[in-house]
Amino acid sequence: MDFEDTAEEGVFRALARAFLKENAPPPPEAGAAIVSTDLETARAWQRAKADAGFAGILLPAEAGGRGGTVMEQIIFDQEERAVGAPSDVHFMIGLGICAPTILQFATPEQIARHVPPLIRGDEIWCQLFSEPSSGSDLAAARTRARREGDGWVIKGQKIWTSGAQHSDFGLLLARTDGSVPKHMGLTVFILDMKSPGVEVRPIKQISGASHFNEVFLDEVHIPDARRIGKVGQGWKIALGMLMNERLTVGRVFSPDVGPLIRVAAQTEINGAPAIDNAMVRERLARWYSEQQGIRHTVSRVMTALSKGRDPGPETSIIKIIDAAREYEMAGFALDLLGPAALDRAGGADAAPALIGAFLEAPGTRIGGGTEEILLNVIAERVLGLPGDIRVDKDIPFDAAAAR
Ligand SMILES: Cc1cc2nc3c(=O)[nH]c(=O)nc-3n(C[C@H](O)[C@H](O)[C@H](O)COP(=O)(O)OP(=O)(O)OC[C@H]3O[C@@H](n4cnc5c(N)ncnc54)[C@H](O)[C@@H]3O)c2cc1C
Repeated sequence: MDFEDTAEEGVFRALARAFLKENAPPPPEAGAAIVSTDLETARAWQRAKADAGFAGILLPAEAGGRGGTVMEQIIFDQEERAVGAPSDVHFMIGLGICAPTILQFATPEQIARHVPPLIRGDEIWCQLFSEPSSGSDLAAARTRARREGDGWVIKGQKIWTSGAQHSDFGLLLARTDGSVPKHMGLTVFILDMKSPGVEVRPIKQISGASHFNEVFLDEVHIPDARRIGKVGQGWKIALGMLMNERLTVGRVFSPDVGPLIRVAAQTEINGAPAIDNAMVRERLARWYSEQQGIRHTVSRVMTALSKGRDPGPETSIIKIIDAAREYEMAGFALDLLGPAALDRAGGADAAPALIGAFLEAPGTRIGGGTEEILLNVIAERVLGLPGDIRVDKDIPFDAAAAR
């Protein structure tokens, strides 16, 4: 791998820098908690990027993206992060998970209607997969879709739906046939979140934020024209979405060791700077090395994507390593800070962000697949080890659910 920009990449980096210098909103004040930018600021920034051709860099130009290369996406991410521009957290699920799925499985009419406003941030998307009794075992979804007239009627409940309270549309996984084994009776639909019968209830988290929600679906009508792919093809579509999700989580959240290095420079152990302590240095070096490994793994996966290959099961590695790193690094920083971590005014400048990361990281370790499930994926699909025991695999869903 060559780590220098090529001439073309250098031109793109200069373009991105000039655009960001001129247009990026000011970074959050030192001492502000990370979590998320308010929706209107984030939306205005997304539109500005779309107007300049920097939104949806990897998505095709005819759908409103840039039709750019993986390296352009990586370069823009680097430069955008460097100026502290607002994170695209409100659009991440739409851009990273829903748009690639729509582009792969939807009709040209569905693509033309939905992808351009998604890229501009005019319409926000969510992913309605998990249910109270099916998270890891997603194929056991109980939300039903029954055929009626020109469409479908949905009844059931979803949970942990990130961003549902702001969303205009969601990709919904529902059971259209209970008489076949669980993986075969699922279908994906585009749900208009403003439809009658959709009720969204935010869930309060330990951080004080409400990023995710319960979503109740009571006799909600979806026209058949909003079905994605074929009836019964839902599991294949869901698997593709999960791969994109693990990649998205890795690309966006990859935690930086920089704030922790700053904390180590600003705190003391036994009267000497913590950063001079051998044990602290050893940990910083390990987390820095892991960061480089993840960065190159992400580049490898994105290169495969740019060559038209599906993101493979190895994307699971990124999330396993990064989510645990975030939790360990934030916890270590808070140990170094001690009670000063609670002093927003006089403590180390990175402390509020690290407290935010410490409270959010347990969720990141679960969302998009728990660590145990991702280890199963790597064991079975990357290493070829014997599969998990799945007793209900070949039984009709309704018969298994009745047991
Ligand atoms: C921050 C966050 C955001 C989320 N956003 C969304 C979203 O936008 N849309 C959405 O649909 N869902 C979302 N989720 C839900 C998420 O996908 C599920 O929480 C996750 O898949 C786990 O499912 P569960 O909560 O039902 O836990 P369970 O599946 O009940 O798992 C409980 C425990 O059992 C373990 N376990 C289960 N099965 C196995 C097995 N076969 N082998 C070994 N261990 C196993 C798990 O690892 C876990 O420790 C989000 C979750 C979080 C935390």
